Amino acid sequence: MKILFTTSEAVPFCKTGGLGDVCGSLPLELARLGHQPVVILPAFRQALNCGRPVEPTGIRFEVPIGRKMVPGTFLRSSLPGGDVPVYLVHQPQYYDRAELYRENGQDYKDNCERFVFFCRAALEAIPLLGLGTELVHCHDWTSGLVPAYLKTELAGVPPFDSLRSLMTIHNIAYQGNFWHWDMELTGIDWKYFNWRQMEFYGNLSFLKTGISFADALNTVSPRYAQEIQSAPLGCGLEGILQQRHDDLFGIMNGVDYSEWNPEIDSHLNGNNYGANNLAAGKQACKAALQREMGLPEVADQPLIALIGRLADQKGFDLVAQLIPQWVANSNAQWVILGTGEYHYHELFWRLAEQNPEKVAVKLGFANDLAHRIEAGADMFLMPSRYEPCGLNQLYSLKYGTVPVVHATGGLADSITNLTDDSLAAGKANGFSFDTYDVTALADALHRACHTYVNNRPVWDQLVRTGMQQDWSWTHSAHEYLQLYSRTLSGATNAARG
Ligand code: ADP
Repeated sequence: MKILFTTSEAVPFCKTGGLGDVCGSLPLELARLGHQPVVILPAFRQALNCGRPVEPTGIRFEVPIGRKMVPGTFLRSSLPGGDVPVYLVHQPQYYDRAELYRENGQDYKDNCERFVFFCRAALEAIPLLGLGTELVHCHDWTSGLVPAYLKTELAGVPPFDSLRSLMTIHNIAYQGNFWHWDMELTGIDWKYFNWRQMEFYGNLSFLKTGISFADALNTVSPRYAQEIQSAPLGCGLEGILQQRHDDLFGIMNGVDYSEWNPEIDSHLNGNNYGANNLAAGKQACKAALQREMGLPEVADQPLIALIGRLADQKGFDLVAQLIPQWVANSNAQWVILGTGEYHYHELFWRLAEQNPEKVAVKLGFANDLAHRIEAGADMFLMPSRYEPCGLNQLYSLKYGTVPVVHATGGLADSITNLTDDSLAAGKANGFSFDTYDVTALADALHRACHTYVNNRPVWDQLVRTGMQQDWSWTHSAHEYLQLYSRTLSGATNAARG
């Protein structure tokens, strides 16, 4: 199958979250299975500076943006470790910037224009680069107009008339909503600016557009596919998702174990370990992490880790309520890596300054440290308010670091709470809580710490169960292939032009 991934992130070119991990690793798995994926993404400054070889294709194009024609070129690169081509849409005026979407807490003012250009350019690439694409796999709002162009101005136009589209929703809270006059930039007829297709509370919505026009839809876990069909997790799009529920699927993200595996992880500075040398390996990684983060090197107190965007979505509002008391009353150590909302930066920075023996914080984005934290921590806290899939809990399982999670979305689909029954069934791999409040979070964390300190045999069983589980792409890639086949052959309830 020839699949074109349209995305604004793909590891190692550029990444702000799980979207980048998925679009860097799923295509590799599809190629291994004998298919022909191609990735197209904006030539962001990060992508050009990431160290991958990039060469010009010599192919130029021009697309309409409102009343002007804007030129661009395609650059060619590839994903590491395979032959998956990556095309970069080069237009420095839009993409040569310090960040991908926003700077200093403000979205770039021309984001609509930047991603209208990207959606149009991705479609131009299909004939110009001779891609022979059968299915366009669109990711998140930044690709949301692609299905709409296929169903409107490109309907009946070869080679686009035979193309089908799949829209993957990685996080429905990020919708790409812009004021209504930006419809002019898209070139799409105003008749589609209605509540069933492109309009969302008076605004132009890229994500709603993608959801309306794509032939099939999926989210990144089965539970999240259910949750977004009602409020509040549908973020206002629950109505249209209910209408399309026959075309909406949930496929769990996979992990790239060539990147995230403690046996071969080069970021661990030689402290590699697997099931065979687990105790010694974890201990060495824990001591190394404590040294690196300036914490006392104690072996038997639990070390709790948090990595992620410092945002309410990730449950940091609960953490902020819990952590001051917890730090005062327990001897657990905390390692926090993240960047995001300023008030969390301030809170964690202050906590670390006041409790240097218990709290260590790194405010920034540091992939290598993220690997060492996964290896060195005893437990990984992920109390997300909602979580489309979540990757860090899956990495944690592989690194023998026990997840403590809010049972929502992909966290509920991957983490089985410790109970007598789940332990006896060999399924327990972590701790979870159902009600999103600080009492329930504290209870789950108490259970985890109590088990760690007082019941090592059970703790070790949790660790081993998690490490043995296979969350690689193998299974999920097959599910995507089934969905691609269905989309190519099947009926659809997508909006028509
Ligand atoms: P989301 O996509 O919602 O941010 P995920 O758990 O799906 O959350 O994926 C987050 C990815 O980004 C993981 O690979 C995680 O390790 C990484 N990550 C997030 N914040 C940081 C950070 N500050 N430093 C390094 N890696 C980070």
